Amino acid sequence: MNPIFAKLQTSVFEEMSRLAREHNAVNLGQGFPDDPGPADVRQKAADAVLHGWNQYPPMMGLPELRQAIAAHYRHWQGLALDPDREVMVTSGATEALAGALFALIEPGDEVVLFEPMYDAYLPLVLRAGGIPRFVTLKPPHFRITEEALAAAFSPRTRLALLNNPLNPTATIFPDEDLDLLASYCRRFDAVALCDEVWEHVVFDGHRHVSMMARPGMRERTVKISSAGKIFSLTGWKVGFVMAAPELMRVLAKAHQYITFTTPPNLQAAAAFGLGKDAAYFDGMRAAFQRSRDRFGSGLTSLGFEVLPSAGTYFVNIDITGLGQADDVAFCKELVAAHGVAAIPVSAFYAERGVTSVVRFCFAKHDSTLDAALERLARLKAR
Ligand code: PMP
Ligand code: GLN
Repeated sequence: MNPIFAKLQTSVFEEMSRLAREHNAVNLGQGFPDDPGPADVRQKAADAVLHGWNQYPPMMGLPELRQAIAAHYRHWQGLALDPDREVMVTSGATEALAGALFALIEPGDEVVLFEPMYDAYLPLVLRAGGIPRFVTLKPPHFRITEEALAAAFSPRTRLALLNNPLNPTATIFPDEDLDLLASYCRRFDAVALCDEVWEHVVFDGHRHVSMMARPGMRERTVKISSAGKIFSLTGWKVGFVMAAPELMRVLAKAHQYITFTTPPNLQAAAAFGLGKDAAYFDGMRAAFQRSRDRFGSGLTSLGFEVLPSAGTYFVNIDITGLGQADDVAFCKELVAAHGVAAIPVSAFYAERGVTSVVRFCFAKHDSTLDAALERLARLKAR
């Protein structure tokens, strides 16, 4: 058996959702919304299942979806993408990440990773033969510094994998940090593999700027996104990959032999959804921002130390002041004794030590958030 996968634990999201079911807990662990998602987009998918094409779609994705993706990013992010040569549809951002890492890394290449990092990154980098070089981002601001990049990059660096906005910390990297990373990618002739799945889930009037739009990065960025996050339909697994033709040619070969295609009905619905007017996207953001504020201020008034949340479905607390410095132990007790599931942020580090940070998903109905707050109040009162 391959030792990389043989040694892995079950993902923390799966594990916490299992514990939530077992303890009949309010599940604020795994990131998925309570809301069923836009009815018109789901209707399109249903219509496409019943009346549309259900055989293999083109390997690169339905032409109508690739055109919709190009038009969407022209409108929202000012990107000029050729839908025929620079856009590909995958079965989720996860497949896009796996394909990009398998396609771009040769065994022994170095890959710069930023911790905390999404849990899929490291196993995929290792399985692709990459040598990880970690940049550890420090709370509360999780900034990228010149010093850290200078220590991580080398002439063997093949790519840097950045998630922006960042899950789990809910931070958005400032322009300055992104420009710094871009300058290192240029200097070391590295590809920026940018997981931008949270690009639409940003708050307080922020507008996402892709790494691809930064000076000198158009030809060396692979941008990844996900319909799951854009439409609050996390089970859909429709991913988008954008890259210059030279990179796309090899990314397409990996996709060809991982999944080859993605269900055509979901693609048709995503194409429809991407063309929705600004009111949908603004309304979605406003609703999540409202939930963030409701839950965040609830936590604050209970006396929890709440870290800032600029985007994503997540808000974090620092548990140091609770006399408990071990996030895993805290989350286990929280779910078993108090009936609230959360995610220990230590799961997002290569060395599974402990951190003092715990992540909650606030993309929930008010009643769900209030039920969780009530249970957290009991923990605080103890
Ligand atoms: N990257 C990040 C940072 C994520 O948070 C997620 C999902 N939560 C994914 C990738 C996976 O996206 P998908 O479900 O489209 O595979
Ligand atoms: N990305 C989701 C989260 O961060 C979970 C995805 C998964 O369950 N693998 O909660």
